[in-house]
Amino acid sequence: MKVVIVGGVAGGMSAATRLRRLDENAEIVVVEKGEHVSFANCGLPYYIGGVIGARSALLPRSPEGLWERFALDVRVRHEVLAIDRTARTVTVRNHRSGVDYVEHWDHLVLSMGAEAVVPSVPGVERARVLRDVADADTIFRAAEHARTAVVIGAGFIGLEMAENLHTKGLSVALVEQAGQVLPPLDPEMAQPVAAHLRAHGVAVRLGARVDRIGPDTVVLGDGSAVPADLVVMAAGVRPRGDLARAAGLALGPGGGIVVDASLRTSDPRIHAVGDVAEKVDAVSGKPVLIPLAGPANRQGRLAADSIVGSPVRDTDGHGTAVVGVLGLTAAVTGWNEKRLRTAGRAYRVVHIHPPAHASYYPGAAPLSLKLLIDAGTDGILGAQAVGTEGAARRIDVLATAMAGGLRASDLLGLDLAYAPQYGSAKDPVNMLGYVADNLASVTTATVQWHELDAARAAGATLLDVRTPDEFAAGAIPGAINVPLDRLRQSMAGLPPGRLIVYCHAGQRGHTATRVLSAHGRDVANLDGGFLTWQAGV
Ligand code: FAD
Repeated sequence: MKVVIVGGVAGGMSAATRLRRLDENAEIVVVEKGEHVSFANCGLPYYIGGVIGARSALLPRSPEGLWERFALDVRVRHEVLAIDRTARTVTVRNHRSGVDYVEHWDHLVLSMGAEAVVPSVPGVERARVLRDVADADTIFRAAEHARTAVVIGAGFIGLEMAENLHTKGLSVALVEQAGQVLPPLDPEMAQPVAAHLRAHGVAVRLGARVDRIGPDTVVLGDGSAVPADLVVMAAGVRPRGDLARAAGLALGPGGGIVVDASLRTSDPRIHAVGDVAEKVDAVSGKPVLIPLAGPANRQGRLAADSIVGSPVRDTDGHGTAVVGVLGLTAAVTGWNEKRLRTAGRAYRVVHIHPPAHASYYPGAAPLSLKLLIDAGTDGILGAQAVGTEGAARRIDVLATAMAGGLRASDLLGLDLAYAPQYGSAKDPVNMLGYVADNLASVTTATVQWHELDAARAAGATLLDVRTPDEFAAGAIPGAINVPLDRLRQSMAGLPPGRLIVYCHAGQRGHTATRVLSAHGRDVANLDGGFLTWQAGV
């Protein structure tokens, strides 16, 4: 059996090495158009920033090493130009010699990855993208001589580049056309990330369209010119589907190669994996693009299993992702509220802001968590976390809960590790379960920060149940203050009609709603309290 693999990094190399472990006799050819295989794309920003000192650390394997250990025929600077499905061949160009040749295959694995989306604005040729080691070398050299940089796009790679160029000592501006950083998050969860970047001296320009790139500036739609010795374009990626399209393989609406659960394309002799392949969205069951390293590695392995005839079923994707930026972590899994609202799904929301570990143990930092729940089934639809500590761990637990089909209320019963320096006896994930259970059993009603204006327009009174000192330090305009501990005594003096209660993070507000509803009042708690409202408005 001869297997040709196109693309020699995450998905392609996982397929190649797994295949060798399964079949010692297969002839395995890996064709990679770049200079390197199996490199650490996810480490590239940190090499540019100097966090990873040795460039060699990004290149764990050479073609020679892969031959010695796995007997893989790895051909770098070779590019597949065309696929002939009838003859079962690929046309390959050797970029070293300039010679084209034809290679036969019994099975073909496509793992060409994704390419950067580069908007066509004047001067864009000065912008650098970061996809591989050669790009990293270019940016690394350019950054050595630059004092100012503009990063276009505030997604995961944009944020990592902003962090690393800032760490390197450049004055950095981050330009994003959306009204928030990190579009996979909801705005009230992303706002603290933008505030954190600004607090560290990164200029964050939101809702800003790039008009043109000049010799030493980036000019925005409002006419302002942002100094830019270096411009990095991080405006998203799209699948490299051209080769597959030309070969007549089915592509989905997003340009990804259509595959079945065993990663077979519309031609069963051809598998596709990684960024170039469509995945199945775990929430909707529909095709989706998830350009992340975990799915690429997993799919490479599964494609090899499928080729040797093992029954294979790829996991549906939640798009679980995490990014660190200047000491703050943001992580996400599943759908966000924006997407649920657009899709017209019925959902419930929980925001909590607990300390990441027991508050009595030194150094407890706040953690913001958001959970999205199916209003009909209590199923978990998505989650987001932002904090300096413990955010990734909580999202991983929630992603696992989603994969296991747990309901939101089930989170209260999870048996999670606890010692004061790591968490709380009621872990933040358990706390999400408590609130979800309250909502499911209608023990408490909540309103969201963006529903507040409508609730007040309908006649509701806003009741702040924090202490007078907290109230004086900053409150939602128009609120009246009755501290929780004086609520029972103050009952007679409260205005008539519906009450919306809030506290700092939602917990005292929940107790207040219980007291008030026991006294016959129509009441709801502002979910996530003052903190969520402040981040959202
Ligand atoms: P790739 O790893 O991109 O490999 C595709 C290879 O195919 C390329 O080397 C390309 O040269 C080659 N190729 C393309 N066309 C041809 C052809 N015709 N002939 C021969 N070779 C061809 N993901 C995370 O989950 N976490 C992270 O922290 C993270 N950080 C990232 C940071 C950066 C800077 C980048 C660029 C990506 C990051 N990713 C991260 C995404 C992750 O690296 C990708 O999802 C993953 O590498 C996809 O694997 P792949 O095999 O599909 O494609």
